[in-house]
Amino acid sequence: MKNSNSKTPSTKYIFVTGGVASSLGKGIISSSIGKLLQARGYKVTIQKLDPYINIDPGTLNPYEHGECFVTQDGAETDLDLGHYERFLDAPTSHANSITTGKVYQEVISKERRGDYLGKTVQVIPHITDEIKRRVLLLGGKGKANVVITEIGGTVGDIESLPYVEVVRQLRYELGPGQVAVVHLTLVPYLSAAGELKTKPTQHSVKMLLEEGVQPDVLVLRTEKKLSEDIRRKVALFCNVEKDSVVESIDVSTIYEVPLRMLDQKLDETLLRKLNLDLDRKPDLDDWREFVSKLHNPKKNVSIALVGKYVELPDAYKSIVESFVHAGVKNECKVKVTPIQSADLTEENVKGKLNGFHGIMVAPGFGERGFQGKILAAKHAREHNIPFLGVCLGMQVAVVEFARNVLGMCEAHSTEMVHATPYPVIDLMEQQKGITEKGGTMRLGAYPCRLEKGTKAYAAYGREKISERHRHRYEFNNIYLNDFEKAGMKATGFNPETNLVEIVEIPAHKWYVGVQFHPEYSSTVLHPHPLFVGFVKAALSLTVNN
Ligand code: GLN
Repeated sequence: MKNSNSKTPSTKYIFVTGGVASSLGKGIISSSIGKLLQARGYKVTIQKLDPYINIDPGTLNPYEHGECFVTQDGAETDLDLGHYERFLDAPTSHANSITTGKVYQEVISKERRGDYLGKTVQVIPHITDEIKRRVLLLGGKGKANVVITEIGGTVGDIESLPYVEVVRQLRYELGPGQVAVVHLTLVPYLSAAGELKTKPTQHSVKMLLEEGVQPDVLVLRTEKKLSEDIRRKVALFCNVEKDSVVESIDVSTIYEVPLRMLDQKLDETLLRKLNLDLDRKPDLDDWREFVSKLHNPKKNVSIALVGKYVELPDAYKSIVESFVHAGVKNECKVKVTPIQSADLTEENVKGKLNGFHGIMVAPGFGERGFQGKILAAKHAREHNIPFLGVCLGMQVAVVEFARNVLGMCEAHSTEMVHATPYPVIDLMEQQKGITEKGGTMRLGAYPCRLEKGTKAYAAYGREKISERHRHRYEFNNIYLNDFEKAGMKATGFNPETNLVEIVEIPAHKWYVGVQFHPEYSSTVLHPHPLFVGFVKAALSLTVNN
């Protein structure tokens, strides 16, 4: 790699900020930039700085913040980390997710230890130093050639000020060619005037400038194509080169975005600004093949996603994306229809689940909608419809089987009814005595051993797997014999604790419940085997198969 100054560190830093409005897709732009640089052979990692005071989003309601993504090393993080992993096909970790809460927690505990003895502890330099330390740590010792850091929120928010200040300081401290700033804004279309408006972009760049940061690249979200005139105008008013004004037009799939960015040479622009080698050509063959298959499905398959957060599409982000990946692998389009579990009743369940080729019961917490999930699992079991239950979905399958097959009418999870006479799902031993809610679940990757000759084994094609978790309750092994005799088998176990990780009904077409979360590890290039197997089984119910 070329480096203009041998004394400067070899790791380069790209910051992605957002202006005008939230939800413009900074996560997708960061992931797309990462993908393009990775395709040229650079080692890339992406980090999220979240300006809220929660230590992590683990305690947030999905309605508040969408899905909580879990890394292999057990960090509960923002859903954007899911995009980073799906695009880069590389795991993230605790270090990739920073919140204001974590930063303050660290600074305050250092203060208590006496690390700043004699000094007044302040936002600048103490908070900003801690943020910088965490940004630099990720790229340290050659772990990455490029660290992309997405700053959550919108420029101008009070909360994000220290983060923008960090960008300003790092650019100065690391010197020319080491830091690039990409600012994502919105160019709204006013239909009454028939015009695209650039003023909000100009204002948000002005705001960044007031905070001491000149963006190098502007990515403009737009519904309509940007004319040359608009690009020239934005370039002129925002002090960027015309080539550095990049259009991000609405596309039918997020997986198109890297290719649209490549068309506009966003990767080359950034490489030039960072004094990096442009000679290596991007290898995106697999990616292009994926996108092409995504656009040309040969069949359609319909899956019901039964959960209680269905009104907010982001609440099940990784599940929805896993179905996209599994669809491409099976060369079909997977239509995922969210079904509110709280609305399902004995009377309407048949009608509401009619016509689906597969039924999935989503992860979740608490009593609301639990009975509806039981009805969905029962419907799938009795009608031989492929079924996938994830985490709470697996626990639902177990409770349903206990009630309706084993005749334990009052069987339940002790999460819902503490005094149930049949606690078929019970609190894990290690969880007993834990009272704090934040970061205390069984989190992250644990090994699992699969039984041969099962649906799970057929899907994975190997005996030893490792999957990510986020739960407090587990299958109660006291009942294992009863279940196995009646036709529900445990087919995957944690080799050390014997915790049941997978249940199946061998007599059923495809009925699998997993205590772990396969959706966290499905990527574009490596669709998750269980989603692939589930979609394949669902396909077998379609008419023209
Ligand atoms: N609430 C259940 C538990 O804690 C399931 C959690 C989940 O679905 N992520 O065990």
